[in-house]
Amino acid sequence: MVLPEVRREGDLAKFVEKRMDAFVGHPFRVNDAVFRIPCKIGAAVYPEDGASAEILFMNAEAALKKAKAGGERYLFYTQNMNESAAAALTLENQLRQALDNGEFVLHYQPKVDLATGRIVGAEALIRWNDPRTGLVPPGRFIPMLEDTGLIQEVGRWALHQAIADYLRWCGAGLAAVRIAVNVSPLQLRHRDFLAEVGKAIGIDARAAAGLELEITESVIMEDVRHSIASLEAIRAMGIRVAIDDFGTGFSSLSYLARLPTDTLKIDRSFVNDMTDTPEGLSLVATIINLAHSVKLKVVAEGVETDEQSRLLRLLNCDEMQGFLFSQPLPAEIFEARYLTQSASP
Ligand code: C2E
Ligand code: MG
Ligand code: MG
Repeated sequence: MVLPEVRREGDLAKFVEKRMDAFVGHPFRVNDAVFRIPCKIGAAVYPEDGASAEILFMNAEAALKKAKAGGERYLFYTQNMNESAAAALTLENQLRQALDNGEFVLHYQPKVDLATGRIVGAEALIRWNDPRTGLVPPGRFIPMLEDTGLIQEVGRWALHQAIADYLRWCGAGLAAVRIAVNVSPLQLRHRDFLAEVGKAIGIDARAAAGLELEITESVIMEDVRHSIASLEAIRAMGIRVAIDDFGTGFSSLSYLARLPTDTLKIDRSFVNDMTDTPEGLSLVATIINLAHSVKLKVVAEGVETDEQSRLLRLLNCDEMQGFLFSQPLPAEIFEARYLTQSASP
C-alpha cells in the first residue's frame, strides 16, 4: 500500500492502526463461511528510509519480517533492522567457511550406568572452533544452519566424525563406547537421510554397533507416521535410537509403545525440578516406570547434584549424563580419561 502524502509523523501510525482495525474487523464471506483475516504491517517512510521505491520496499519488508517474528501488529523500519540482517548474513558466510576449513569439532559427554558407575556411552555434541572467538556452543549456530540448509552437510560431517572416532577407539584397543549423535529434524525429514546413514556405517562392519541417533521428541510427534518408518529403518541397520528431551514434546502415551526406539532421555528441566517439589519427583518416577513398562532404557539428562543422582538411582533410572560426572570433553581428553583404564587387561 502506498500513502502518497503523510502530513505529520503521528498521522501515519494512526492511519496504519485505523486501516488495520478496519481490515481485521471486516468479515469476508465465501459461500456460507465467514473469514476474518489477520494481518501484519511493515512500513518504510520516504525519504528517510530510502530514496527509491526498491529500497523503500526492501526496508518495509525488513520491518514486516521483524513484526511477524515478534508480537507487534505493525512496525516502522529502523536502521538496526538491516544491521541484524547483515549480521545474519555474515554468520551464514562464516559457517560455510567453518565447514570448508574444518572448524567444527565434536565434544564427548560420558553417560554413566547408575548401578555400576561405569561409562556405558557418550553423546557427541558439536562445537564451532571459531578462530576469532574460540569455542561457540551449538545453540548459537544450529538455528542458522537449519535456516540455511547447511545442517544437512554439517550433520553429515558429525555423523562421519563420530563413526571415525569410534572406529579409531576400536582400532587402538580402547574400551570403545557407543556414541550418540544428535539428528536435526531437517535431516530426519530429508529423503536421502536413510541412504546417507547407510553409507556412513557402510565403511566398517563395527560402525552400526557403535552408533545411536538422538531425535528430539517434538520432532517425532510432528509427523508420527513418517518418523516411525524412518526410525524402523534406522534400527534395522543395527543402529540404536533415542528420544531426546523427553517430556517437552507432548507425546501421546499410545505412541510411546509404538515408537521404534531403544532409549528415552528425560529432559534436564524435569531432573532440575525433581529435587524442588514432590510433584517434580513423582513426575520423574512416572516417566521412568512408563519407559520401563514399554522396555525402554532411561537416561537422565543434565544431572548436576549428588542428590539428583541418588534419587535417580533409587527410582531405577538406568543411566545419567551431566556436569556432576563430566562436562562434554574434546575427544582426546575423553579417550584418555575414560577409555584407557578398562582397556588394559
Ligand atoms: P541435547 O542433545 O539435549 O544435549 C544436551 C545439552 O545439555 C548439551 O548442550 C550439554 O552440554 C548440556 N548439558 C549436559 N549436562 C548438563 C548439565 O549437567 N547441566 C546443564 N545445564 N547442561 C548440561 P550443548 O552441547 O550446548 O548442546 C545443545 C543442543 O544442541 C543439544 O541438546 C542438541 O539438541 C544440539 N546439538 C548438539 N550437537 C548437535 C549436532 O551434532 N547436531 C544437531 N543437529 N544438534 C546438535
Ligand atoms: Mg542429545
Ligand atoms: Mg536433550
